[in-house]
Amino acid sequence: MGNNIKDRKEKQKRFDTLYKISKEIKEEISKPRPEPKALERLFNELYAYATRDHLTGVFNRRVLDELLSKEMERAIRHKLPLAVIMLDIDNFKQYNDKFGHLQGDMALKTVTDTIQKITRPEDFVARYGGEEFILVLPDTTIEKAKGIAERIRKEISETRIRPATKSIEKTERGYEKVTVSIGIAQLKKDGVQGMLERADEALYKAKERGKNQVCIID
Ligand code: GH3
Ligand code: MG
Ligand code: MG
Repeated sequence: MGNNIKDRKEKQKRFDTLYKISKEIKEEISKPRPEPKALERLFNELYAYATRDHLTGVFNRRVLDELLSKEMERAIRHKLPLAVIMLDIDNFKQYNDKFGHLQGDMALKTVTDTIQKITRPEDFVARYGGEEFILVLPDTTIEKAKGIAERIRKEISETRIRPATKSIEKTERGYEKVTVSIGIAQLKKDGVQGMLERADEALYKAKERGKNQVCIID
């Protein structure tokens, strides 16, 4: 399936979901006695729809931007460290070309599940771009962030990705594994923007040095 068709189908699906939720909300509130439980369920659906990436379930870019500026303020006010981990799947275009988009999606889900398994509830995972994720680590020094990043890198490289279809399972070799490159940076005087730029630079360095590794720009 071509990328365009897939994108269009995803958009259609998102639209359908929003349409369905809105319709149910309208129906519920136009009842003589709207049901609080039903309204709460619908609110939660709408909330997830607005804040989460629909493929992986991690937070979307909009929430990330808001959260980063809040965390920066908090870190400055309480004089606490703040670190970010930027993570990008290695050779993912090749992976998609070889095993197809469905299998690529499965890899994305596996990677985010692994990140969430390792991190604390107060850490925050968001999809930053196609196959790029950001982990926000409040109250975490850059040394500690390095340890966490190394664990994530290792765990992902050892985690088996499930086959998306039977035919992949039977015929293809190599769909089971992906690796990630990671860049780390901490909050300094230049704020969130500067921190993200350094994390990006560190990620680039990790790619340049041969991928499947962690780099820091301090
Ligand atoms: P590098 O190791 O340097 O990061 O190379 P790369 O191939 O991973 O990087 P590149 O930026 O060239 O390719 C990223 C690929 O990610 C291309 C795009 O098709 C794929 N991608 C982005 N979003 C999605 C998605 O939602 N699903 C799937 N299956 N693939 C995606
Ligand atoms: Mg990549
Ligand atoms: Mg990328």
